Amino acid sequence: MAKVIQRRSLTLLERSYLWEIIKGMGTTFKHLFRNFKNPEKMQLMSYPEVEVQTPQNYRGSHRLMKRPDGEPRCVACYMCSTACPARCITIEAEPSSDPRIEKKPRKFEIDWLVCVFCGLCEEACPVDAIRMDTRKVAISHYTRKEFIADMPRLLNWDPKDFPANDAQSQKAPGGKQNQQAKQIWGLEVKHS
Ligand code: SF4
Ligand code: SF4
Repeated sequence: MAKVIQRRSLTLLERSYLWEIIKGMGTTFKHLFRNFKNPEKMQLMSYPEVEVQTPQNYRGSHRLMKRPDGEPRCVACYMCSTACPARCITIEAEPSSDPRIEKKPRKFEIDWLVCVFCGLCEEACPVDAIRMDTRKVAISHYTRKEFIADMPRLLNWDPKDFPANDAQSQKAPGGKQNQQAKQIWGLEVKHS
């Protein structure tokens, strides 16, 4: 059942706004003078020379996950593009050459200028084929066209940049579990 919350009416002082502005400025100056007193404790970062260290689960730019043979895990089901509120994912499907898989994407593009980085695409994907865990937050280019991430770009990532316990990333080519995954998939295994 909905609960009705009674709003407290503002006092005359609050309604004048002046006291609230003075209180706000008080907080601002408190921080300013505290920083002047202890400049070594100031939370400063020399960006962009020093890169921002975001946590592993930070929602950054997208990547497409790879199978052990390097092909995209995506099965072109269109669930991500259907869930996308910004309508910025373009997919074109084609039949897969692997008899175990029905379809694969011929084209997969994300327009990062339109994307709102909500994460609904990765939530919707039934096969963990799209992720936003690259930790890349600063995307800057000179032309609009460069903001359209195509399939080669989305697949261009290295398992070394992802944790050793991230099994799905480590099964991709160059990953710690790639040889083992290739055997399970019945793919040709390179013996060193
Ligand atoms: S993060 Fe959100 S807006 Fe961006 S592609 Fe995914 S679903 Fe669309
Ligand atoms: S939801 Fe996943 S499998 Fe389906 S089209 Fe999108 S990335 Fe590919």
